[in-house]
Amino acid sequence: RDKKAFIAGVADDQGFGWAIAKALAEAGCEISLGVWVPALNIFKTSFEKGKFDSSRKLSDGSLMQFAHIYPMDAVFDTMADVPEEVATNKRYAGNKAWTVSEVAESVKKDWGNVDILVHSLANGPEVVKPLLETSRKGYLAALSASSYSLISMVQRFGPLMNPGGSVISLTYNASNRIIPGYGGGMSSAKAALESDTRVLAYEAGRKYKVRVNTISAGPLGSRAAKAIGFIDDMIRYSYENAPVQKELAASEVGNVACFLLSPLASAVTGHVMFVDNGLNVMGLAT
Ligand code: NAD
Repeated sequence: RDKKAFIAGVADDQGFGWAIAKALAEAGCEISLGVWVPALNIFKTSFEKGKFDSSRKLSDGSLMQFAHIYPMDAVFDTMADVPEEVATNKRYAGNKAWTVSEVAESVKKDWGNVDILVHSLANGPEVVKPLLETSRKGYLAALSASSYSLISMVQRFGPLMNPGGSVISLTYNASNRIIPGYGGGMSSAKAALESDTRVLAYEAGRKYKVRVNTISAGPLGSRAAKAIGFIDDMIRYSYENAPVQKELAASEVGNVACFLLSPLASAVTGHVMFVDNGLNVMGLAT
C-alpha cells in the first residue's frame, strides 16, 4: 500500500514543503496539500497553467500528482474561532472548510487515514521588528501561526493517523542562538515548536503510536524567508562559515524529511535534526 502524506504549507515550488512533497512522491507516497487560503488561488492557477511542471518532474519522468488540495488556515481550529472580518474577506469567503478541524474532517472523508503529517509553515507579522519592540499581539500571532498550529494539527489529525505514522515540522536555530533580525517573536515560536516536538512525541506517541520530529534547516531563499529581508546575508554567512561550504538545497531537507518520516527512522522521535551544512556546530565564525 502506498503511504498517504498530508502536507500543510505549500504555496509554490520554492519552499521546503514542496521539496518534502517531492521526496515523498519519489518514495512512492500519495500526497495531499493544505494551502494557505489567501495563497490558494494563485497556487492553483499556476499549477493548472503548468508553471510548476518542470519542478513536478520525478526521476521516472512522470509528474508529481496531488490527490487533494485543500484550502487551510492553521491559525483557526474551528469556524467558531474565525472573526467576522476574516470570514467575510473576499479571499476567504469563496472557500469552505479551511479551519484545521474541518480540513482533518475533509481528509478523513475524501481520503481516509494518513500515515504522514508535514507542518511546513510559519508566520510572524512583526518578524522584522526586534523582540524588544514586538507587540503582544505580534508575538502571540507568531506563536499561533508557527507553534500552536503544530499542536492543533497533531490534535486533529492524530485520530486519523495509522499507527507507525510520523509527523514532521521545520524549525530554525534562532530558537537556541541569537540571530539578530529574526524578530517578532519568531525565535520564541521556534523554541516553543522544538519543546512541543518533544512533548508531542511522548503524548501522541502513546496515544496514536506516531513519531514527532522537527528539522532545523539552514537558510533557503523561499518566499517566507525573503519576507524577513536578510536571507541573502544568511545564505552567504552559512556558505562562508559552515563546515560544508555549499548552498543548502531544499531537496536536501526533503530527503532527510523522507528518512525521518519513513520506517528507517522507526526509533527516532522527539528529535531536532539539523540539516544546515553543519553551521550549528560552529562556535567561532572563521
Ligand atoms: P514557504 O513560504 O515556502 O512556506 C511557508 C508556508 O506557510 C507558505 O506556503 C505559506 O502560505 C504558509 N502559511 C503561512 N501562514 C499560514 C497559515 N496561517 N496557515 C497555513 N499556511 C500558512 O517558506 P519556507 O521557508 O519553506 O517555510 C517552511 C518552514 O521552514 C517554516 O516553518 C519556516 O520557518 C521553516 N524554515 C525556513 C528556513 C529558511 O531559511 N527558508 C530555515 C529554517 C526553517
